[in-house]
Amino acid sequence: MPAFSSEALVLQVRPAGEADVLADFLTPDRGRLRGLAKGAKKSRKRFANCLEPACLVRLQLFEKPTNPWVRLEAGELIDGFAAIRRDFRKWGVAGFICELTRELVPPRDPHPAVFDLLREALLRLEGRAPAEEVGPIFQWKLLKLAGYGFSLQVCPGCGRTGNDFERAVFSSRKTALVCPDCGGGEQGLSLSPGTLSSLRQVDRLEAAKAFRVRLDRLIRREAETLLTYWRRQVLGRELPSAQVLRQLQEPYI
Ligand SMILES: [Zn+2]
Repeated sequence: MPAFSSEALVLQVRPAGEADVLADFLTPDRGRLRGLAKGAKKSRKRFANCLEPACLVRLQLFEKPTNPWVRLEAGELIDGFAAIRRDFRKWGVAGFICELTRELVPPRDPHPAVFDLLREALLRLEGRAPAEEVGPIFQWKLLKLAGYGFSLQVCPGCGRTGNDFERAVFSSRKTALVCPDCGGGEQGLSLSPGTLSSLRQVDRLEAAKAFRVRLDRLIRREAETLLTYWRRQVLGRELPSAQVLRQLQEPYI
């Protein structure tokens, strides 16, 4: 079935030569794909407003089994999330979550839950939710879905759980959250009971509900510190969009 149609969330768009465009996008059933839209810069009719990052679109695609890229034949905009584009902080978060998705999700690995997570995050940003809360919630859920999660429920050192495990320290030696007793004096990345409890809620809930969990300023700071550290460990570097986002948000968090 070389020709097919799919909903997609656009992650990145780059010019390729004088007339073509190269796009990275996430589909529900085929995972992350990369495609070439020939002549897209000149033919605005075939891709009216839909080759932009952080857009929900329907694409007409053509695939050859021997080619790692697909060909984009045409596209139609479903939701351009206009309110995100009007707010520079929301736009910063959208850029970050799209880049993180591109980095953590391997190509052609279908994962409908990741598609739902990104769509819910964009819908939440489009609404009246504070932009600062969407980033950490999305990050925790995506790291987990991509296979880089760790337990928030049980201290792997002593088996403490529930009310006995209400403070935690991130142990870089064990790459796990442990209770302060098992942390052996490791300093720096500690989580207060409120942060641990909020992250547990985020972890337990499906995407649409997880984005309704409120994170106050202290919780956001602790969660951001933990997630930034963990993201850098996983990726081996910092993302350019994360640096931009920090500069945009610093005065507000
Ligand atoms: Zn312990």
